[in-house]
Order: sequence, then structure tokens, then C-alpha cells
Amino acid sequence: MANKPAPKQKAGKSAKYVYFFGNGKADGNRGMKDTLGGKGAGLAEMTNAGLPVPPGFTISTDVCSLYYKQKGKIPANVDAQIAENIRKLEKAAGATLGSTGNPLLVSVRSGAKFSMPGMMDTILNLGLNDKAVEGLKARTSNGRFAYDSYRRFMQMFGSVVLGIPKDAFEHEFESVKSAKGTTLDTDLDEQALREVVQRFKQVVRGRAGRDFPQEPREQLTMARDAVFRSWMNPRAQEYRRIYDIPDHIGTAVNVQMMVFGNTGDRSATGVGFTRNPATGAKEFYGEFLINAQGEDVVAGIRTPQPISELAKVLPKAYKQLREITTRLERNYKDVQDFEFTIQDERLFMLQTRNGKRTGYAAVIIATDFVAERLITPKEAILQVDPESLSQLLAPGFDQKEWRTIPVATKGLPASPGAACGQVVFSAEDAVEWSDAGKPVILVRRETVPDDIRGMFVAQGVLTATGGMTSHAAVVGRQMGKPSIVGASALDVDEDGKSFSVDGHTIKEGDFVSFDGLTGEVKLAKVASKPSEILQVLQGGLEPKKSDIYRRFMQILAWTDKYRRMGVRANADQPDQAALAYAFGARGIGLCRTEHMFFGEGRIPIVQRMILADNEKDRRAALDELLPMQREDFYGVFKAMKGEPVTIRTIDPPLHEFLPKREELMVEIARLESQQGTDELEAKLKLLRRVEQLHEFNPMLGHRGVRLGITYPEITEMQTRAILEAACRLAKEGLKVTPEIMIPLVGHVKELRDQRAVVNRVAEAVMKEQGVKVKYLVGTMIEVPRGAMTADEIAGEADFFSFGTNDLTQMTFGFSRDDVGKFLRVYQDKKILDKDPFATFDVDGVGPVLRTGVELGRRTKPDLKIGVCGEHGGDPASIHFFEKVGLNYVSCSPYRVPVARLAAAQAALAVKVGD
Ligand code: PEP
Ligand code: MG
Repeated sequence: MANKPAPKQKAGKSAKYVYFFGNGKADGNRGMKDTLGGKGAGLAEMTNAGLPVPPGFTISTDVCSLYYKQKGKIPANVDAQIAENIRKLEKAAGATLGSTGNPLLVSVRSGAKFSMPGMMDTILNLGLNDKAVEGLKARTSNGRFAYDSYRRFMQMFGSVVLGIPKDAFEHEFESVKSAKGTTLDTDLDEQALREVVQRFKQVVRGRAGRDFPQEPREQLTMARDAVFRSWMNPRAQEYRRIYDIPDHIGTAVNVQMMVFGNTGDRSATGVGFTRNPATGAKEFYGEFLINAQGEDVVAGIRTPQPISELAKVLPKAYKQLREITTRLERNYKDVQDFEFTIQDERLFMLQTRNGKRTGYAAVIIATDFVAERLITPKEAILQVDPESLSQLLAPGFDQKEWRTIPVATKGLPASPGAACGQVVFSAEDAVEWSDAGKPVILVRRETVPDDIRGMFVAQGVLTATGGMTSHAAVVGRQMGKPSIVGASALDVDEDGKSFSVDGHTIKEGDFVSFDGLTGEVKLAKVASKPSEILQVLQGGLEPKKSDIYRRFMQILAWTDKYRRMGVRANADQPDQAALAYAFGARGIGLCRTEHMFFGEGRIPIVQRMILADNEKDRRAALDELLPMQREDFYGVFKAMKGEPVTIRTIDPPLHEFLPKREELMVEIARLESQQGTDELEAKLKLLRRVEQLHEFNPMLGHRGVRLGITYPEITEMQTRAILEAACRLAKEGLKVTPEIMIPLVGHVKELRDQRAVVNRVAEAVMKEQGVKVKYLVGTMIEVPRGAMTADEIAGEADFFSFGTNDLTQMTFGFSRDDVGKFLRVYQDKKILDKDPFATFDVDGVGPVLRTGVELGRRTKPDLKIGVCGEHGGDPASIHFFEKVGLNYVSCSPYRVPVARLAAAQAALAVKVGD
């Protein structure tokens, strides 16, 4: 709470802390969610719209801040405003707190700016005491109802405000019921309920060491403070962490005249949505209970009825409810999630807010709203959460079944989608099993580049280590493969082919399922269905047969009108490039050439290249790789239909392609025991070279531009492959726009060196081929020194692309591959809110990037600048990239739709100065 700015008006006479609503007029309105919370703003809005809302008042979120700042004390002027509003409320309700004739009862409810369902506390029937309960009985001529309300109030107040365990009350309640020989609450008559009340008083005296407070104003003050305290309960804190809601905003408190859904069979209470929040269907959706109070609907003691039944039992109230909620939907231009109570056939609205929905429903609802002319396409773009689109691309579980199975552990949700299969522990086994037609989940302690084929054939990838940009995560997203990384509770024994978690041991061949969207892992077989949109794009389903495909594409088409930044894809295979193009990527922002080396049969050649201890041998290996790379580039260029394709020269540490030192030593020991063979000689030579290449900090070692500088023949071969492919396309009359990108540049002279190599080879190839192709030479800015000297570097670069994965790694000094080991603790201790490898760190890495942009454009005002780190597909990060004026973002093919929508939203927001 410490960071909340002080309330705008200082605590003087003029400061307003309490907002009244009632009799058709409210002090607030729907635009005041910061001050009134979502519930308070909704109640004010409905009151102003003349809807039947019981009167009340909202104590603002500023008071919550004061409560925490002043260690639980509320200033006198706030108390005075509350007292004044109580008087107003009594007048509007025609009832008085604590009166024996006509007592006013109120509900006290939390309500923050963002809804946090069930996380904070609520108290109903406040104002009842020994006298008022008689007043209520007299007014309603219903003693049973009055005493039932009193016991409910005591129970709620006792547990929420006085902190007495619920069981203590339940125990007494149950013993009265069994003494009466019944199990149903509704069977207790007034006499029995009086007995319950007496017993509850004893419970309070015994447990809280005081009598149950009889003074309604004291009850109200205590309840208000309990709601403020509930803002910081562990459940609410956890919820805010998950949903990125800041701690400092605080909750408002709504005090509202009670209406009763439990006065008999002409009364009811319920909740609903104006459209189906799961499917988006245009249908009135919800449930209700006759003769019940709000908490009964959610508590699950009685099974509520579908809302359509209300039309039969209380038709007038139902009709009015339909009219009101339709009006609310039109007014808010969004699906409404509402609560209502019917007291003796009279309808009251208790809440309305924009309804949460699935990704699928979001797309259906937004496109329906435009068709119904409720909103414009621009408003539709702003309404859909970009992540909804990625949900639509992932295979999904049957949620009904999924929910019944316990969660074994949770990891980082690296790539969304439902995965189910039999576990295997090596890439080779994955390939073998899947060739035999079995669905597999590849479980590894960590993945290495060699695993790529295994990952490719697996239904999903699950690792015990790694962060959101670890190898498995990056590759998983790029492939659209459901992946969970950093599931640190997994104890993986790769040699023994088993893992244990949560007291269970899972062996090779056992089934597990996981949801890459939530990070939940379950030890069971659960069926999943492929995404309909992908079925269409991959040709298995006709577009006209898929309604959701057409709507999805419609929303994306709308975004193009409002988007400023371009969207490209990170792809290094023709099929990935083609899919990215179909999703609307117009260009490749990053083709990682080293990924191409993992293809079938290539690793041995790459190993020969690395192991060569002289240039001649190295060139011989490179000559073998040349035609393969040329084919790759040709395919990617073609799939991109003339759009720019940025190809990066080789980047990763070479030892990633080599066998592990420890494994070699074991192998050698085995061969030695069999005595001197040629194989032993070869292995010993290999070991010596592996040891020579060993690095202590490979991520900061011999990688990126440093490789090209020490082995220029690699850059030569790659340039040749790129230009030969480009010339071939040019000769075929096709447009091609290659952009050659040098990674990890921190010093202008590094780029100058490599640029000279590229230009020399490119000129030679074009001369040989007899065609001219326009190509660019640029660099990645991913080393902080590169950003800080971007003005010099820009002198040698035709374009920049920020590698924000490495830029984050090197600015924080966090290893990308090891961050998973401590990130969770950092987040739990609130040292970091978010994973900086998933959502760009605007505060710390942001200034480095901004400097790079400013310095680069100081030298070349029109310098084309993009971003190709994983952040290029993250909506919050995209917002920042829009602000600093990048030309494009590049992300994995499956994130392209998300990026298109997020970029349009960011452009619209930045335009209005957000
Ligand atoms: C980066 O560092 O952001 C980047 C895109 O390169 P890589 O992830 O391949 O290091
Ligand atoms: Mg990088």
C-alpha cells in the first residue's frame, strides 16, 4: 500500500470520501472506478439510469489507503461523512438503524477497481440486534425470516469480523438441527432459530471474549475495517499477483440497504450474464434460487435453477430483468455480469459489471456486437484481449473432465495448449515412440538443441528447469508446441526413465497431461481437441465451414487499419514462414540460421566444421552445408512472397553442437576397458577438442559476431547461401528482399569487419550469377554497449533489431537459462512483479533500448528498427515498443495474431496519450 499517491484532495473539509446513491441520483458515475471500485461505479451508474437499485453509499478506495497509512485509524472527517451518509440513507430507505419499529439493515461489501471474485469479505443483514430483530419480525409479520436473518448475520460477522472459525457456529447450528430431527435449514422454525441465536451469542462470548456488538454503528465500523483488512489477506494478494493487479489501489466499501430474496416463495436471488461467457452465444445466461439470500447461490448448498425457469415462476420480474440487462449491455457496450434480488415480486439490481469470458467467447461476442451495430470495429479491437486469440489457436481439453483431476504441480506456462501423452525421457525415444504411432510428452531436466526433433514429434514438452526464454520455451512457442518449463517440483531421472512429483513416481510410458496456458500438470490421460483455426489454415477444413475462423480473421483484418507498427515472424523453416504469412506476418524479423543446422543429417557436418583445427577442413565442412542452407533460404524467401526476410548469421556457442564432456568420458572409459580401438583414438581426439572449446560462461563466450570474426569463412558461406538463393528467385522473376543481420554486436568495428565480409561475398555472387539483388546489412542490438554506442553503429548499419532476450539477460545480469531457479522466489518476495524475459522491463532495460533508438536515429533519422526477442509477441511489451517508435515487432508465428491486435491497441492508446 505504501506507493499509493495521497488522495488528490488533502484531508481538509472539502475532501470527499463517501459517495451516496439512491432515489435516481448518485454522486458518482461509471467513470469513477479508481475511486469507487467497479461495484461502486456500477451501482452509481445504474442509479443514475433510473434502475431499481437499493440506496446506499460507497466509501472510497482513498479511505482504504488512509486505513493502511494510519495503521487502522480512520480520520474523524471521514467518520463524519459516513455518519452524514447514514442519515441520508435512513431517509431514502424510510427506516432507521437499530429501530424496533422499522429497522434499516444493510450489506457491507468490498469492491476494488478490478473484480476479484470471492477474494475479499462481505457482510449481510448488518444492523440487526436483539431489538431490531423484533422490529423486522413486526414489519414482515414473519418471525422465522427475522430470526433466520439474525443468525446469518451473527455467523458472518462472527467469522469475518471477529475472526471466529466458521465451524464453531456450524457446530451449534447442526446440534439444534439434530435436536429437531432435521437436516434442512428450512425446517427450523422461529423457536429453533431463537435457540440458535442464543447459542451463537455464547460462541461469541467464549471465543471473542466480548458480547456480540448490539450497537449498529459499531457493527458498521467494525465491518468496514474488516473489509479493508481483507484487501491484504493472502488469498487476495495471491489473486492480485496472478492477475497483475497492483497492491496499492485498495478496495472501496459499499454500504447498501438490504433487500431480501428470502422472504418466501415470491422472492428470489440470482446472478447472470447477458451472453454466454463460455461460448459467446447470444443467450440470457445465469441461475437463481427461490427464497434465498445471495450467498446461497454461490455456496452450493442448494442447486440453483437455470435463469430461463424464472420466466415461469416470476414472469413479471423476469421480463423486467431482461429489459434492464439488455439496456445495461447497450449502455456499457459490453456483456454484463449482474446480480439481482427479487423481494416479494419486486426486482432490485445489486451489481453490474463487464463480464469475464473465454478467448473463444471474446471473439464471438465482439464480432456479433459489430454485426448488431452495438459497437464499431475500432471498439471491437479495444474490447478483445489479445491473449484470447492465442487461446483459439491452442488445442484444448474438455474442461469438464479436466477440472475433476487434481493438479500434480505447476511450472512456467511457456507455450499454450493442451498436451496429453506417454512420457519419454529422450529425443530419440520420442521419435521412436511417435513413429510407432504413440502420442508422447517429452520430459527433460532441460532441453538442448539436439532435442529439437524429439520436441517436434512430441505432443508437448515438459522440463524441470529453465525460464520463459530458455531453449525449450522459445522453440516450443515457435513450433506452437504446448510447453511447460521450470516445473521445479519434478525430480527427473533421465537415465532411470522416470520422474517423481507430489509423492508419485511416473515411469516411461505412463500418461500425463498438461495445460501450457496455465502451467498445470496432471498425472492422467485427458483427451484434447485441435484448434479449428489451424485445421483451416493447414487445409483440413474449408474456411466456409468454420464460423470461428472467419470471425478470427475478421478481427485481425480490422486491426490493420489502426496499426502503425509492422508485424513480422521469427521463423526458420519454410512451413513456419508460410503459416506466419497466413496469420498476417509481413516479413521475417529473425531467421535463426543455427536452428537450420539441427535438421536431419546436418549435425555431423556441423560437428566436423567445429572440430576442424584448420581452415581447410573447416571450409570443406562448410562447403557441404552451403547447398543445404541455400535450399532453406530459397524456401523461406518464397514463402514470404517478396516481403523482407531478416537472416541472422550464426549465433550460439559452438559447444552446443558438440557431445557433452561427461558423456564422452564415460564412453572412453568403456572403450578403454575393451582395449585400444580406432574408435577410442577418435573419441580421445574429440574429447581434447571439446575440452579446448569448453567455456565457463558460454552465454558471454564465443558466440554471435565473435564467431564470424574468428571464422570469417562461416559468414562467407552463409552470405553466399543467402545471395545465391536470392539470385535464383530474382532470375525466376520473383521479388526478394534479404536483410543480413549480425548478432551480438557491441562495438562498431565488429560490425564494420563483418559488413566488409558480407559485401565482398555478395558482390562476388551477384557477379557470378549476373543479377543484382538489393540486400541490407544490419545488426542486432542486444549487448548494452551496442545500445550505448548506437550512433556509431548506425553508421555501419542499414537497420537495427533489438534482441531483447539477450539485452534483458545482459542488463539484469540474469542468465536466461538459469533464471527459473530463482525467479519464483523473486516474485514471491515481490522483488520482481513479472518475469522480465516474458514482459519487457520498461524501467530498467527500457532506458537502454530507448537510448539505442535515439542514438541510432541521431545518425540515421529514418533508421528502420525492430525487435525480435520474445517480447515482440507480448502485448504489454508491444505497448512500450509503440511508444518508443519502433517500426516493427517480430515474434513466433503463433503469436502473430496476438501481436497484430496488441499493436493496434497500442497505437490507439498512444494516440490518446495513454
Ligand atoms: C535475442 O537475444 O533477443 C534474440 C532474438 O536472439 P536469441 O534469442 O537467439 O539469442
Ligand atoms: Mg540474442
